[in-house]
Amino acid sequence: AADDDVAVRPDPVTTTDGVEIEVAANVGTRSDLGPAVERGADGIGLFRTEFLFLDRDSPPNEDEQFDAYVEAVEAFDSGRVVVRTLDIGGDKPVPYLDLPDEENPFLGERGIRRSLGPDATLFETQIRALLRAAASADGARISVMLPLVSTVDELKRARERFEAVADDLAEEGIDHAMPEFGIMVETPAAAFMADQFAPHVDFFSIGTNDLAQYVMAAERGNERVADLGDYRQPAVLRAIDATVSAADGTDCWVGMCGEMAGDPNLTELLVGLGLDELSMSAVTVPQVKAAVSETDTDDATTLASQALQAETKAEVTELLRETQ
Ligand code: PEP
Ligand code: MG
Repeated sequence: AADDDVAVRPDPVTTTDGVEIEVAANVGTRSDLGPAVERGADGIGLFRTEFLFLDRDSPPNEDEQFDAYVEAVEAFDSGRVVVRTLDIGGDKPVPYLDLPDEENPFLGERGIRRSLGPDATLFETQIRALLRAAASADGARISVMLPLVSTVDELKRARERFEAVADDLAEEGIDHAMPEFGIMVETPAAAFMADQFAPHVDFFSIGTNDLAQYVMAAERGNERVADLGDYRQPAVLRAIDATVSAADGTDCWVGMCGEMAGDPNLTELLVGLGLDELSMSAVTVPQVKAAVSETDTDDATTLASQALQAETKAEVTELLRETQ
């Protein structure tokens, strides 16, 4: 395969003018961890905790989760591991959780909505495991993010849960620490309100799989609307730009962990849009690292402003082709 021709770079990479872009891997099963390290990822930008809940008939307990989070961070000598709290519902069912029958599951009770609702007890167990893991030897490198947030209120309520659990652990005399805390930006609401979210979080991670589906009202994975739901649509680029711009000048860093981040043809554009971190399936890490190291940020900024002025996806695609 062509990707085997690209050298693995185990160290962080910079653009030609010295801007470091973190290139991380997405982990969606236990077996993704090895390849992430072998392919030279700087860390994990999306640890999908759903897999811990699959292929079994009851949820993993606190200790099992603690072990999984510690194992993930210990797999890397350095670098961040961003653990996403349970994101089920929509396209992510878990049989024993008895999800409701909804006409539009993608617009229903999924992600953080379940954690703040019917899955509150599961959420509490997960938070306990995360706060304990954050206090382990390498735990300071663990970050936590919430999926499918659409209101600042959801973020605040989730944060309160973390603080309440920290109080419980303190009372019980159990070692714990508060990890770096962020949200996924994968609803148009979160992108529009990014300036209101930014002061409350350490980072954003843009989930373009869901963001594209919701911005374009085109179901992810549905072939019939695949062209509409494509991340090259100018409306999707504008949602990304709105998010990055809202965080600009604050302490909030911005990453991306949807499929778009792993497309090496888009790396220059994403650097130009101002992303600090890109996280993808391990297989494309070497190509994206190579692409970052060939990018000049001034050229990238020019490309991004041109793409943001495009009228159509075809125009964006043409711009990308010209700059390859
Ligand atoms: C996304 O929506 O872009 C994302 C990374 O999360 P998932 O694909 O797990 O929904
Ligand atoms: Mg998502």
